[in-house]
Amino acid sequence: MKNVVLLGPPGAGKGTVAARLAREFGFLHVSTGDLLREEVARNTPLGQLAKGYMERGELVPDEVILSMVRQLVDAKKGILFDGFPRTLAQAEGLERFAEVDLVIFLEVSREEVVRRLSSRRVCSRCGAVYNLVTKPPKAEGICDLCGGPLVQREDDKPEVVARRFEVYMKDSAPLIAYYEKRGLLQRIKADRPPEEVFQAVSEVLRA
Ligand SMILES: [Zn+2]
Repeated sequence: MKNVVLLGPPGAGKGTVAARLAREFGFLHVSTGDLLREEVARNTPLGQLAKGYMERGELVPDEVILSMVRQLVDAKKGILFDGFPRTLAQAEGLERFAEVDLVIFLEVSREEVVRRLSSRRVCSRCGAVYNLVTKPPKAEGICDLCGGPLVQREDDKPEVVARRFEVYMKDSAPLIAYYEKRGLLQRIKADRPPEEVFQAVSEVLRA
């Protein structure tokens, strides 16, 4: 089984695709975002270290991310990396302990990302997530689960979403070029319904 890296800007639908690939193909889904949150919640030495950086508003250094992934992965096959590697240094570090067979880049336009993410609303009481386009609440502005008021996160405001998109594309360009040069990159158009994106990704995986 292949080791796959899934790349794409926020709003490309990475999380949805990754969860379904894990379910239907049996990948071990490695999300560095989830791992970090777990380490912090369990208050492990790594979690304490990571928390310090996060509280100062700094990026968690590559070597911390790498040692976290490494303890989990350790040369296994059938891993789906989601949200990792994020930098060239992480990509090079990853190769010291696991082989990458395929890199899937979910390509989506800035307009589509803004449309998707700026329609997101969250419950200010229980944290449930809604989307005015794809998953609206039953009553406008009110949480189905707890009746709390729905709000738009600062992060989901159109101008903030557009800026995050630009930052992602700029920061990940060297990573994309690196995998492209090595013949591992497959671009999948993600400006379409999740089902079509998933089918396109599945075809690439079966090839
Ligand atoms: Zn709620």
